[in-house]
Amino acid sequence: MDKKPKIVILGAGYGGMMTATRLLKANVHQDAEITLVNKHNYHYQTTWLHEPAAGTLHHDKTRMRIENVLDLNKINFVKDAVKEIKTEDKKVILEGGELDYDYLVIGLGSEPETFGIPGVKEHAYAIRSVNSVRQIREHIEYMFASYNNEIEKHEDKLTFVVAGAGFTGIEFVGELSERIPELCEEYDIARDKVKIYSVEAAPTALPGFDEELVEYAMNLLESRGVEFLIETPIKEVKEDGVLLNDGSEIKSRTVVWTTGVRGSSVVENSGFETMRGRVKVEKDLRAPGYDDVFIIGDCALIINEEINRPYPPTAQIAIQQSYTCSNNLKSLIQGKDDHLETFKPEIKGTVASLGGKEAIGIVGERKLYGGSASAMKKIIDNRYLYLLGGMPLVLKKGKLNIF
Ligand code: FAD
Ligand code: NAD
Repeated sequence: MDKKPKIVILGAGYGGMMTATRLLKANVHQDAEITLVNKHNYHYQTTWLHEPAAGTLHHDKTRMRIENVLDLNKINFVKDAVKEIKTEDKKVILEGGELDYDYLVIGLGSEPETFGIPGVKEHAYAIRSVNSVRQIREHIEYMFASYNNEIEKHEDKLTFVVAGAGFTGIEFVGELSERIPELCEEYDIARDKVKIYSVEAAPTALPGFDEELVEYAMNLLESRGVEFLIETPIKEVKEDGVLLNDGSEIKSRTVVWTTGVRGSSVVENSGFETMRGRVKVEKDLRAPGYDDVFIIGDCALIINEEINRPYPPTAQIAIQQSYTCSNNLKSLIQGKDDHLETFKPEIKGTVASLGGKEAIGIVGERKLYGGSASAMKKIIDNRYLYLLGGMPLVLKKGKLNIF
């Protein structure tokens, strides 16, 4: 009997998990050996990470063990970190071994974009993974705990700088501005001692987003004590704060870097042609020149032809790509090479949270503010859980406090 072709999926994020789920639903495991590789034995929802980073949600709510979501009798799971892809040998090099593939799906997500700014890697925190956000939360708590326990007061311990007022920066500031009063209460510190700066290089927060909604968000966050420094690029991050473009400094022990993302360095280092770490994929989601490699999620670059600019990388697109990718894999396994689907993103909208009960968003043609936007955000979060693991997963991990 012929050996089954091997499909290897790299990364158990939105793209990788949903591709695996779709392949199992379509019974592709009967005709192919499917292997999922991920650094951790759990899947986490990147889109929720601003919450555990600020400490408004426990990190366990954002993650789930892979064995509890995927049937490991039907799919192999390898817990390991991918180091390199050797396309000419059809091999993936892991920290602890290697894997052969016939078809590869790359869904390794993104890394923080530093733009080569000095000190970012050494001194700033990033909202990237469960490990990174757990450290941010503990660091913030430590700043509060140590402030009052020292005779000489260090005000920079109570100054928090969030670099970049894009969606990640704004969502994090939204959570942090709700957590700070709780921390002040817990550690006996007056609220006016604490500073939160949202520092943005562009002439507005959330550049490119609806102006009215941006204004609503900024007013709300300012009312919670957030100070915006707009049109103020950060030039350097130091051990004791940030240096701004005009030469002034903010002294801070906590700089959270949210100035955008680039695709996983594994992709770049494996010889693919990339732009900011992302591969401009073909319409069927394969890498140009490789008929056995699909690239999805934050590692893939898709051009919005209406404006001739890349779509911002989002979970929404990663999830949609998993449908096309799994359908195309099924066709290839069945030998229907001329039946491959074209990927076309269907952008349903954008909703950004501003803490637990407020948000802003556009869904279809509708603008949403406040509580209704926040409810919509939770429904979107729950919808993903439903697609991944049905109602039981929603009940276990979902946001059930919708209003
Ligand atoms: P990810 O979901 O990030 O998953 C990548 C996976 O690969 C991870 O499990 C990681 O552990 C694993 N991995 C990485 N490197 C390796 C390696 N070398 N070896 C093995 N495994 C590895 N998008 C939206 O559409 N809506 C939102 O509301 C939204 N909110 C966001 C909020 C925040 C705070 C952030 C940071 C992002 C948000 N995004 C949102 C963007 C969205 O999270 C990403 O676009 C999405 O996660 C991309 O999916 P992915 O599958 O490519 O990568
Ligand atoms: P982003 O690119 O959306 O925003 C980064 C911001 O940092 C920009 O406003 C940019 O002008 C600013 N910036 C860049 N360099 C700077 C500097 N030196 N100093 C100060 N500011 C600087 O990136 P992000 O917020 O990290 O988001 C990453 C991706 O995830 C995006 O595609 C975003 O759409 C998506 N996302 C979506 C949501 C949502 O839909 N709710 C939430 C978070 C992230």
